[in-house]
Amino acid sequence: MEKIPFNKPFLTGDETKYIEQAVKNGKLSGNGEFTQRCQKWYRERYGFKKTLLTTSCTDALEMCAMLADIKPGDEVIIPSYTFVSTALAFVREGAKIIFADSQEDNPNIDASKVEQLITERTKAIVPVHYAGVACDMNELRRIARKHNLLLIEDAAQAVDSHYINPETGKKEPLGTIGELSAFSFHETKNIIAGEGGLLGINDEQFIRRSEIIWEKGTNRAEFFRGEVNKYGWVDCGSSFLPSEVIAAFLWAQFEHIDTIQSRRKEIWDIYHKNIAPLAQEGYFKMPQIPAYAENNAHMFYIVCNSLEERTALIKHLKENNILAVSHYLSLHKSEFYKDSHWGGELPNCDRFADTLLRLPLYYELSNENIYYICECIYKFFKP
Ligand SMILES: *Cc1c(COP(=O)(O)O)cnc(C)c1O
Repeated sequence: MEKIPFNKPFLTGDETKYIEQAVKNGKLSGNGEFTQRCQKWYRERYGFKKTLLTTSCTDALEMCAMLADIKPGDEVIIPSYTFVSTALAFVREGAKIIFADSQEDNPNIDASKVEQLITERTKAIVPVHYAGVACDMNELRRIARKHNLLLIEDAAQAVDSHYINPETGKKEPLGTIGELSAFSFHETKNIIAGEGGLLGINDEQFIRRSEIIWEKGTNRAEFFRGEVNKYGWVDCGSSFLPSEVIAAFLWAQFEHIDTIQSRRKEIWDIYHKNIAPLAQEGYFKMPQIPAYAENNAHMFYIVCNSLEERTALIKHLKENNILAVSHYLSLHKSEFYKDSHWGGELPNCDRFADTLLRLPLYYELSNENIYYICECIYKFFKP
């Protein structure tokens, strides 16, 4: 039996063709033809006011923190069950992170517990759409508006996913709901560029400054468009734009997004159908997708009944050549931040940290292998 990895980056076959074109174009630095093609396509497909490619989602989040004008001591509400970057981007600007708990039945931020965390120093709420499944956006939007806070979506895993607004029935693309949002094209995500990301802007007030921050604090983008006849240092910033090599690679992925998404959803459905009976018998819990959320098949996970059981299942799968992996450790208990956290216990977050298990999910995973993985899970629980 060949080993089944947890992830395998999928190449459409056109990546090198477009990279070659980028090389022949003779402009390899950022903001060239492929960058603009990617940005325009993403903006129009989902309906952003503006989009900027970045070198990672982490960088897009750092741009969000700069645009939000976070000052030392400002507070930002973030779920504890997330990747380090969600919090770190704001910590770099001096923010105090207020960690919120997950929902009982799904790792997303529990919107009903957010309002009690707001103080006069609160600047922003940063929901993370875990596994590409939407947070309770109407409730978060209501809270943000009421308290005049920015809503910044960590949409790293949420490419091509939607919130189905229960009040209007409208499908709102994730990342277009908050004032700002950040996406990832890391090789573990649905759409990849090796390392890469995108900043989504939905509020016009951030458009001009976003380009300046993106281009090392200069107004080079305006110069590039011929709007000014020289460019200089006008603000804070960094080098957040990727080279054309990355954008060319990404363009090949964008062109195949529908094929990629539909195969991932097929894989997700096969897993779900095959192991649901075990969950019904109480051996573990299945992922819960609220009626207001769409599933972009970023991830297939199960929630085990205990840490011990998860550890044993990981070992069992590994012995059968299957790499299944846990996910986040609670950030409020991290070595770096535990002494700064004052929000008390976050039991749902801790439980997901101990019991959530991700199964292999990648475009080229064969049906045969999915059946084999499900069979191994059956053998573990019903030897
Ligand atoms: C992957 C991920 C990130 C970081 O993305 P990079 O592109 O690797 O910087 C941030 N937040 C979440 C929730 C992620 O899943």
